[in-house]
Amino acid sequence: MRLKIVQAGEAVLRQRARELSRKEIRGSEIQQLIEWMRETMRDAPGVGLAAPQVGLPLQLAVIEDPEAVQRTVPPERLAERGRRPVPFHVVVNPRLTTEGDPVEFFEGCLSVAGWSALVPRAARVQVECLDERGESKSIRADGWYARILQHEIDHLFGTLYVDRMQTRSLMTVDNLTRHWGDLPVAEVKKRLGIV
Ligand code: ZN
Repeated sequence: MRLKIVQAGEAVLRQRARELSRKEIRGSEIQQLIEWMRETMRDAPGVGLAAPQVGLPLQLAVIEDPEAVQRTVPPERLAERGRRPVPFHVVVNPRLTTEGDPVEFFEGCLSVAGWSALVPRAARVQVECLDERGESKSIRADGWYARILQHEIDHLFGTLYVDRMQTRSLMTVDNLTRHWGDLPVAEVKKRLGIV
């Protein structure tokens, strides 16, 4: 089933979501929710979806950056973003530690549909969380996967990318594609007057 993705302005996107117990994670309701969130993310399409985005204030997100989607992106763009395939998985009750200097790329969000902006994100992360079986899991990530994790975990604590973006870089996805998509980020910043 495809769930409705709520847009900026819904209070649920601005709340700290609640943690789930291991028992809840293993229960049929959360297992069903995970299945529906996976279908909704693939249909959107997106590389991550957090429970608050479907109206539920729970600390749960699904992530997947499949090879099939990456084939639609030029190889040089994949390389500069450190974007490699990430299999489907679930992140519950995450605790995030960031490492390394921030890296800036354009980012979008299914709950801020049609818009994009440059967002600085830490180059590397470590995440302690539970998985879809309620088992403890430790994730180390860099590149685009580190960005996805930071974006999705922000959702679980009421933060959207617009809170972290270079405000002068906000633009429609149409205009990003039309005017800016092929330029290096340093050149984009220069032309947009971002110091
Ligand atoms: Zn988002």
